[in-house]
Amino acid sequence: AAVVHWFKRDLRIRDNTGLSRAAQLAREKGVGVIGVWILSPRDWEAHLVSPAKCDFEIRTVGVLGRELAELDVPLFVECVGERGDVERRLVEVCEEWGVKNVFCNLEYEPDELRRETQLVKLCAEKGINFEPQHDDCVVPPGSLRTGGGRQYAVYTPWYRSWVAHLHAHPHLLDERPLPGRNPPGFRDRFKHLFDMPVPPAPASKGLSTEEKERFARLWPAGEGAALDRLQLFLTEKIGRYQATRNFPSANSTACVSVHHAAGTLAARTSVRMARDVNSTKKLDGGIEGIRGWISEVAWRDFYRHVLVHWPYVCMNKPFKFEYTNIEWEYSDAHFRAWTEGKTGYPIVDAAMRCLNHTAYMHNRLRMVTASFLAKHLLLDWRCGEQYFISHLIDGDFASNNGGWGFASSTGVDPQPYFRVFNPWLQSEKFDADGEFIRKWVPELQGVEGMAIHNPYEHGGKAAEVARRNGYPKPIVEHKFARERCLMRYKAGIGRD
Ligand code: FAD
Repeated sequence: AAVVHWFKRDLRIRDNTGLSRAAQLAREKGVGVIGVWILSPRDWEAHLVSPAKCDFEIRTVGVLGRELAELDVPLFVECVGERGDVERRLVEVCEEWGVKNVFCNLEYEPDELRRETQLVKLCAEKGINFEPQHDDCVVPPGSLRTGGGRQYAVYTPWYRSWVAHLHAHPHLLDERPLPGRNPPGFRDRFKHLFDMPVPPAPASKGLSTEEKERFARLWPAGEGAALDRLQLFLTEKIGRYQATRNFPSANSTACVSVHHAAGTLAARTSVRMARDVNSTKKLDGGIEGIRGWISEVAWRDFYRHVLVHWPYVCMNKPFKFEYTNIEWEYSDAHFRAWTEGKTGYPIVDAAMRCLNHTAYMHNRLRMVTASFLAKHLLLDWRCGEQYFISHLIDGDFASNNGGWGFASSTGVDPQPYFRVFNPWLQSEKFDADGEFIRKWVPELQGVEGMAIHNPYEHGGKAAEVARRNGYPKPIVEHKFARERCLMRYKAGIGRD
């Protein structure tokens, strides 16, 4: 009677492998497509999804439903109580509609893979073909191997192999065909499935009206918004990306991670469109900014490949086992100061306040704040990882875990543990005129020149302004913190 596409982290119509295959099969059978989105708030709770991201998904599903309806494709929307109810309801509604084929795009985290495996079984019992597709990565996990047949654990050789694989298999970057309109009469038959209301976020993920308006303004939902943002970046910014990408005030990155995370934009679409504006039409070579940007999008694939090969990274374990024994400090006061942006390190504080206000943080600052938590405060990096995922609008397990592993030196292909970022120097280098700090730390707006980076050390008027406005002194001294970090990391790794 129909073919179902189950939407999850792929909330778009264009360039969607599962939806495209569902539509193709439906056409062959002379039937229509039904989209399904089932929300389990418990899933959001279990995965610490931020309220901003929940709100973004809800807004996106609203847009998706309207855009599908223009193709006479209904979007069935439902909210279930328990996490396990999602699979059960999906099979139930398929039976109700007489559906024999269900498509979706694979998610690679262990919980999701377990759910998909369960679905294969549940569907088989009911005579339904369940057909999950590779779509989330540009190169499907498992495709790349070192010369010795292993999974890469170092980015650079992995990236070379990723590029070579795509040049050898260019169809992986091809745009998936659009689904097309459902056959005449389909809309009448399934009219009860059109215009279904999208449930509000559960109370645990609620936002105030002001927050909702703020996030809607900062992060417009839907794939149209994603493509607009990408197009703007490709026409106006990508050429200078490599030179400007590390400067938070430059506003020079694409700001599409929120769309990659919700699936309103496929990473494949991003890479293909960037390749197509490159002078060489290649992934490497050609314009430096384009090459550089594509290699950043590739990091997203890299961390997913790592997760598929070493799923224990999803279980609160460091990629490098020898880092399990580091003796962390457990200071609630320091953790709170970090989360609130009150550490006395202006660049760290500006970054954390920006995260709390916008649900986003620039990549350079993610590295600086993560390193500061794990190395300067010597707090367990997993506390920071959880704080990020529960506040970011682009929260994505693989990228977040990979980023934290990199910055805390416990992850795959990390920064060596003895490289401890100096937050003062990072600040001077990447926010040289203090524009970013002044924007987010109003207590320091009256501080002039280089003193903005460390007003108390500078003394004089700068220290006076900071003190008068209640800006905290550094909660930890840089040199002491660095030495303590080196000692503890060394001792931790050395222990049995
Ligand atoms: P651009 O610079 O324009 O890059 C384009 C795209 O490439 C991004 O949208 C993103 O999809 C991908 N990308 C870029 N850098 C990375 C990277 N280092 N790792 C993986 N993918 C990358 N990214 C997330 O999407 N979700 C997260 O939860 C997340 N947590 C992070 C935590 C830490 C500690 C660190 C150091 C990095 C984290 N990142 C995360 C990666 C990166 O900071 C963001 O993807 C980037 O800042 C998004 O902004 P943009 O879209 O303007 O990026």
